[in-house]
Amino acid sequence: MEDRVSRLELLKDEASACTRCRLSEGRTQVVFGVGNPDAELMFVGEAPGFHEDKQGYPFVGQAGKLLDKLLAGIGLTRSDVYIANVLKCRPPGNRDPQPDEIELCEGYLFRQIEAIEPKLVATLGNFATKLLSGKPLGITRVHGQEQDVVLGGTRVLLYPIFHPAAALYTPAMMTTLEGDFARLPELLSGPAAVPPAPVAVAVAAAPEPEPAFEREPEYAQLGLF
Ligand code: URA
Repeated sequence: MEDRVSRLELLKDEASACTRCRLSEGRTQVVFGVGNPDAELMFVGEAPGFHEDKQGYPFVGQAGKLLDKLLAGIGLTRSDVYIANVLKCRPPGNRDPQPDEIELCEGYLFRQIEAIEPKLVATLGNFATKLLSGKPLGITRVHGQEQDVVLGGTRVLLYPIFHPAAALYTPAMMTTLEGDFARLPELLSGPAAVPPAPVAVAVAAAPEPEPAFEREPEYAQLGLF
Protein backbone atom coordinates (compact mmCIF):
# COMPACT_ATOMS: atom_id res chain seq x y z
CA MET A 1 0.00 0.00 0.00
CA GLU A 2 2.66 2.52 1.13
CA ASP A 3 4.75 1.65 -1.86
CA ARG A 4 1.83 2.01 -4.24
CA VAL A 5 0.85 5.36 -2.76
CA SER A 6 4.35 6.78 -2.97
CA ARG A 7 4.91 5.45 -6.49
CA LEU A 8 1.65 6.99 -7.63
CA GLU A 9 2.44 10.28 -5.92
CA LEU A 10 5.83 10.49 -7.58
CA LEU A 11 4.29 9.66 -10.94
CA LYS A 12 1.53 12.22 -10.42
CA ASP A 13 4.12 14.91 -9.64
CA GLU A 14 5.99 14.00 -12.81
CA ALA A 15 2.83 14.01 -14.94
CA SER A 16 1.67 17.31 -13.44
CA ALA A 17 4.76 19.04 -14.83
CA CYS A 18 4.63 17.27 -18.19
CA THR A 19 5.10 19.33 -21.34
CA ARG A 20 5.81 16.46 -23.73
CA CYS A 21 2.96 17.26 -26.10
CA ARG A 22 0.88 20.19 -27.31
CA LEU A 23 -1.96 19.37 -24.93
CA SER A 24 0.04 20.83 -22.06
CA GLU A 25 -0.44 24.27 -23.62
CA GLY A 26 -4.22 24.28 -23.38
CA ARG A 27 -4.85 22.40 -20.16
CA THR A 28 -6.11 23.86 -16.91
CA GLN A 29 -4.45 20.98 -15.12
CA VAL A 30 -3.29 17.41 -15.60
CA VAL A 31 -5.97 14.82 -14.81
CA PHE A 32 -3.78 12.05 -13.49
CA GLY A 33 -6.30 9.53 -12.14
CA VAL A 34 -8.02 8.80 -8.87
CA GLY A 35 -9.10 5.98 -6.63
CA ASN A 36 -7.87 3.15 -4.49
CA PRO A 37 -4.14 2.44 -4.98
CA ASP A 38 -4.87 -1.17 -3.96
CA ALA A 39 -7.79 -1.56 -6.35
CA GLU A 40 -8.32 -4.92 -8.01
CA LEU A 41 -10.42 -3.22 -10.66
CA MET A 42 -9.14 -0.32 -12.76
CA PHE A 43 -11.04 1.60 -15.44
CA VAL A 44 -9.26 3.30 -18.30
CA GLY A 45 -11.10 5.93 -20.33
CA GLU A 46 -9.99 8.12 -23.19
CA ALA A 47 -9.11 11.66 -22.12
CA PRO A 48 -10.34 14.39 -19.81
CA GLY A 49 -13.22 16.53 -21.02
CA PHE A 50 -14.24 20.04 -20.05
CA HIS A 51 -15.22 19.31 -16.45
CA GLU A 52 -12.37 16.90 -15.83
CA ASP A 53 -9.90 19.55 -16.98
CA LYS A 54 -11.47 22.12 -14.64
CA GLN A 55 -11.82 19.84 -11.60
CA GLY A 56 -8.74 17.67 -12.02
CA TYR A 57 -10.54 14.33 -11.69
CA PRO A 58 -11.52 11.80 -14.36
CA PHE A 59 -15.14 11.11 -15.22
CA VAL A 60 -16.86 13.93 -13.36
CA GLY A 61 -19.24 14.79 -16.26
CA GLN A 62 -22.32 12.98 -17.49
CA ALA A 63 -20.38 9.87 -18.51
CA GLY A 64 -18.95 9.78 -14.98
CA LYS A 65 -22.40 9.88 -13.46
CA LEU A 66 -23.31 6.85 -15.54
CA LEU A 67 -20.11 5.13 -14.46
CA ASP A 68 -21.03 5.79 -10.80
CA LYS A 69 -24.50 4.35 -11.41
CA LEU A 70 -23.11 1.24 -13.08
CA LEU A 71 -20.64 0.79 -10.22
CA ALA A 72 -23.44 1.10 -7.66
CA GLY A 73 -25.30 -1.60 -9.58
CA ILE A 74 -22.53 -4.07 -8.81
CA GLY A 75 -22.14 -2.89 -5.20
CA LEU A 76 -19.03 -0.76 -5.73
CA THR A 77 -18.15 2.91 -5.35
CA ARG A 78 -15.30 4.98 -6.74
CA SER A 79 -13.30 4.37 -3.60
CA ASP A 80 -13.16 0.65 -4.44
CA VAL A 81 -11.66 1.14 -7.89
CA TYR A 82 -9.05 3.21 -9.69
CA ILE A 83 -9.99 5.41 -12.65
CA ALA A 84 -7.57 6.84 -15.21
CA ASN A 85 -7.45 7.86 -18.84
CA VAL A 86 -5.17 7.17 -21.80
CA LEU A 87 -4.44 10.91 -22.06
CA LYS A 88 -3.88 12.97 -18.95
CA CYS A 89 -4.65 16.32 -20.59
CA ARG A 90 -7.78 17.49 -22.35
CA PRO A 91 -7.71 17.58 -26.16
CA PRO A 92 -9.12 20.90 -27.37
CA GLY A 93 -12.86 20.77 -28.01
CA ASN A 94 -12.83 17.14 -26.80
CA ARG A 95 -11.45 15.98 -30.15
CA ASP A 96 -10.01 12.48 -30.56
CA PRO A 97 -6.56 11.82 -29.08
CA GLN A 98 -3.87 11.96 -31.77
CA PRO A 99 -1.43 9.04 -32.21
CA ASP A 100 1.60 11.13 -31.16
CA GLU A 101 -0.24 12.34 -28.04
CA ILE A 102 -1.03 8.75 -27.09
CA GLU A 103 2.55 7.69 -27.68
CA LEU A 104 3.95 10.49 -25.55
CA CYS A 105 1.44 9.96 -22.72
CA GLU A 106 1.02 6.18 -22.56
CA GLY A 107 4.02 5.71 -20.27
CA TYR A 108 2.12 7.33 -17.42
CA LEU A 109 -0.75 4.88 -17.80
CA PHE A 110 1.54 1.85 -18.01
CA ARG A 111 3.38 2.99 -14.89
CA GLN A 112 0.06 3.55 -13.08
CA ILE A 113 -0.92 -0.02 -13.92
CA GLU A 114 2.48 -1.25 -12.80
CA ALA A 115 2.10 0.56 -9.46
CA ILE A 116 -1.49 -0.53 -8.79
CA GLU A 117 -1.17 -4.11 -10.11
CA PRO A 118 -4.92 -4.49 -10.65
CA LYS A 119 -6.39 -7.90 -11.35
CA LEU A 120 -8.82 -6.56 -13.92
CA VAL A 121 -8.51 -3.57 -16.25
CA ALA A 122 -11.77 -2.51 -17.90
CA THR A 123 -11.08 -0.38 -20.95
CA LEU A 124 -13.81 2.11 -21.80
CA GLY A 125 -14.14 2.53 -25.56
CA ASN A 126 -11.86 2.28 -28.55
CA PHE A 127 -8.78 4.24 -27.58
CA ALA A 128 -8.07 2.51 -24.28
CA THR A 129 -8.96 -0.88 -25.74
CA LYS A 130 -6.64 -0.60 -28.74
CA LEU A 131 -3.78 0.80 -26.72
CA LEU A 132 -3.92 -1.79 -23.96
CA SER A 133 -4.75 -4.79 -26.14
CA GLY A 134 -2.05 -3.80 -28.62
CA LYS A 135 -4.49 -4.78 -31.36
CA PRO A 136 -6.38 -2.64 -33.87
CA LEU A 137 -9.71 -4.40 -33.20
CA GLY A 138 -12.46 -1.93 -32.34
CA ILE A 139 -14.66 -2.00 -29.28
CA THR A 140 -17.71 -3.22 -31.20
CA ARG A 141 -15.82 -6.42 -32.08
CA VAL A 142 -14.19 -7.10 -28.72
CA HIS A 143 -16.44 -5.72 -25.99
CA GLY A 144 -17.29 -8.21 -23.26
CA GLN A 145 -14.38 -10.51 -24.18
CA GLU A 146 -11.76 -10.76 -21.46
CA GLN A 147 -8.17 -11.43 -22.47
CA ASP A 148 -4.89 -11.96 -20.64
CA VAL A 149 -2.31 -9.28 -21.31
CA VAL A 150 0.91 -8.00 -19.79
CA LEU A 151 0.78 -4.27 -19.12
CA GLY A 152 3.62 -2.30 -17.59
CA GLY A 153 5.19 -5.62 -16.60
CA THR A 154 2.00 -6.71 -14.82
CA ARG A 155 -0.16 -9.60 -16.01
CA VAL A 156 -3.80 -8.52 -15.95
CA LEU A 157 -7.16 -9.51 -17.30
CA LEU A 158 -8.20 -6.91 -19.87
CA TYR A 159 -11.94 -6.42 -20.28
CA PRO A 160 -13.07 -4.02 -23.02
CA ILE A 161 -16.48 -2.41 -22.61
CA PHE A 162 -18.28 0.44 -24.34
CA HIS A 163 -17.47 3.97 -23.28
CA PRO A 164 -20.27 5.32 -21.04
CA ALA A 165 -20.47 8.47 -23.22
CA ALA A 166 -21.24 6.26 -26.23
CA ALA A 167 -23.96 4.45 -24.29
CA LEU A 168 -25.54 7.75 -23.28
CA TYR A 169 -26.18 8.54 -26.92
CA THR A 170 -27.18 5.07 -28.13
CA PRO A 171 -29.77 3.10 -26.15
CA ALA A 172 -28.74 -0.26 -27.67
CA MET A 173 -25.20 0.35 -26.48
CA MET A 174 -26.49 1.08 -22.98
CA THR A 175 -28.06 -2.37 -22.81
CA THR A 176 -24.80 -3.96 -23.97
CA LEU A 177 -22.75 -1.88 -21.52
CA GLU A 178 -25.02 -2.90 -18.64
CA GLY A 179 -24.72 -6.55 -19.64
CA ASP A 180 -20.92 -6.37 -19.90
CA PHE A 181 -20.69 -4.45 -16.62
CA ALA A 182 -22.75 -7.12 -14.86
CA ARG A 183 -19.93 -9.62 -15.51
CA LEU A 184 -17.35 -7.61 -13.57
CA PRO A 185 -18.01 -9.28 -10.18
CA GLU A 186 -17.64 -12.72 -11.75
CA LEU A 187 -14.37 -11.71 -13.42
CA LEU A 188 -13.09 -10.18 -10.18
CA SER A 189 -13.78 -13.31 -8.18
CA GLY A 190 -12.33 -15.61 -10.82
CA PRO A 191 -8.68 -16.59 -11.17
CA ALA A 192 -6.17 -13.88 -11.97
CA ALA A 193 -4.79 -13.76 -15.49
CA VAL A 194 -2.62 -16.80 -16.09
CA PRO A 195 -0.11 -17.86 -18.71
CA PRO A 196 0.02 -18.53 -21.57
CA ALA A 197 -0.82 -14.98 -22.44
CA PRO A 198 -0.13 -12.88 -25.48
CA VAL A 199 2.20 -10.04 -24.60
CA ALA A 200 0.54 -6.76 -25.47
CA VAL A 201 2.81 -4.46 -27.38
CA ALA A 202 2.86 -1.03 -25.80
CA VAL A 203 2.26 0.99 -28.92
CA ALA A 204 -0.62 3.15 -29.97
CA ALA A 205 -2.79 1.29 -32.46
CA ALA A 206 -3.99 3.05 -35.59
CA PRO A 207 -6.99 5.18 -34.75
CA GLU A 208 -10.38 3.76 -35.70
CA PRO A 209 -13.47 5.88 -35.24
CA GLU A 210 -15.47 5.31 -32.08
CA PRO A 211 -18.80 3.66 -32.94
CA ALA A 212 -21.17 6.43 -33.83
CA PHE A 213 -21.71 8.64 -30.87
CA GLU A 214 -21.55 12.33 -30.60
CA ARG A 215 -18.83 13.75 -28.49
CA GLU A 216 -20.11 15.61 -25.46
CA PRO A 217 -20.19 19.21 -26.69
CA GLU A 218 -18.95 21.92 -24.36
CA TYR A 219 -22.39 23.34 -23.76
CA ALA A 220 -23.83 19.92 -22.98
CA GLN A 221 -21.10 19.32 -20.44
CA LEU A 222 -21.68 22.72 -18.93
CA GLY A 223 -25.36 21.96 -18.62
CA LEU A 224 -24.78 18.86 -16.56
CA PHE A 225 -24.21 20.50 -13.23
N1 URA B 1 -14.40 10.59 -20.90
C1 URA B 1 -13.23 9.97 -20.67
O1 URA B 1 -12.81 9.11 -21.42
N2 URA B 1 -12.56 10.29 -19.60
C2 URA B 1 -12.96 11.20 -18.72
O2 URA B 1 -12.29 11.43 -17.75
C3 URA B 1 -14.20 11.83 -18.98
C4 URA B 1 -14.89 11.52 -20.07
